[in-house]
Amino acid sequence: VPFHLNPDLSDLAAEATRGLQDHFSAKSDFTAAAPGRVNLIGEHIDYCGGLVLPLAIHRYVVICATLNGSSQARIHSATTKETATIDLSSPVEVGEIPWANYLRGVLRGFQNRGHHLPGFDAFIVSSIPHGAGLSSSAALTCALATLLEGLLDTVLPTREKAKLCQQAEHDFAQVPCGIMDPFTCAYAQADHLIYIDCQTEEIERIPFGDPELTFLIANTMVRHQLSDGAYASRRREAEEGLRLLGKNQWQDVTRSEVEERWEELGDPINRRALHIVNEIFRTTLAVSAIHRNSIESLSSLMSASHHSLSDLFEVSCSELDLMVQLARNIGPAGGVLGSRMTGGGFGGSTVTLCEIDKLPDIAASLSRDYKKATGITPQLFASRPAQGAQLIR
Ligand code: ADP
Ligand code: MG
Repeated sequence: VPFHLNPDLSDLAAEATRGLQDHFSAKSDFTAAAPGRVNLIGEHIDYCGGLVLPLAIHRYVVICATLNGSSQARIHSATTKETATIDLSSPVEVGEIPWANYLRGVLRGFQNRGHHLPGFDAFIVSSIPHGAGLSSSAALTCALATLLEGLLDTVLPTREKAKLCQQAEHDFAQVPCGIMDPFTCAYAQADHLIYIDCQTEEIERIPFGDPELTFLIANTMVRHQLSDGAYASRRREAEEGLRLLGKNQWQDVTRSEVEERWEELGDPINRRALHIVNEIFRTTLAVSAIHRNSIESLSSLMSASHHSLSDLFEVSCSELDLMVQLARNIGPAGGVLGSRMTGGGFGGSTVTLCEIDKLPDIAASLSRDYKKATGITPQLFASRPAQGAQLIR
């Protein structure tokens, strides 16, 4: 079967509980789950103070835990099959196991806010594909932060929790991530998109409850090596563009200002700038299209976004372009209402808006044709907008 359903959250929780039992001979007292995400539109503009429109998906990092009476956290990840042991009796510092640094950062964030952390044993399972651009890292930090809220019997304001998670990733994993991932993970609500102004950090939840529509996520299963270097250079080019345009923020730049200064900006900064300005505008148009229930407009905005990322921002790749083209070939008659790459690019996933009753056929056809062209079996699953980080049971 080429089309995979999402594992039930309750099954993941049961798997984590069993893991805790097998690994630490402990019974789970607290379980937290935090979702991955896809971005519907507004790509590569979170770090430009732009507007983004992501949704949480029914793929989760789940962590369960119990107090162990010591001053150590012992945390095992079923994904990496490693246990990190972290001393909590003094301020937590960066350690040796790379993935555990995301956790160390969160623990330190709670300590910095004056919380004394009791020792605990924890077990982590995940249904978020790795390296697919679906934000497993923010799910990891948000899941632990939510678990700690349970262990400490406290609740952080959502914004503070998201910021704490972002800070953990910055300071402990050395990833200069934007606010989109932790904000989506913390603020998401079922049947809603999360509209984030990355300049003002305001958020708005946009209802997206049409039961006949769903999002198909197609992981190309490739990740090209240039991605880290290209991400850094796009960030630099964006900064340089804003400086040359003499503005303080991208939301104040108009399309005609970019066009008037085209030669002066020079290539590739002029094309980068045009993407940023148009993509910010497209996100506002997408929100009003959703409010008007104009799926046709949303569809053409998704196409335009993909082309811009491919031609102007140059962060797509042949596999992403192919996956989008295959979806577009199926078209509205076959239930495909829009498709584009999502996330950082150079591989990773596409997001396709689909009619739910045609989903099995769409997934089967995409899977078959992508495999025929590339020799690679893609990973496909569908999701409607999911709930954000939560304590379960
Ligand atoms: P993305 O967030 O798009 O999935 P990142 O590179 O930002 O990609 O984050 C992936 C990193 O997050 C992994 O390399 C690992 O360090 C950490 N991570 C995510 N999920 C888990 C998990 N279940 N167990 C351990 N580490 C994880
Ligand atoms: Mg990440």
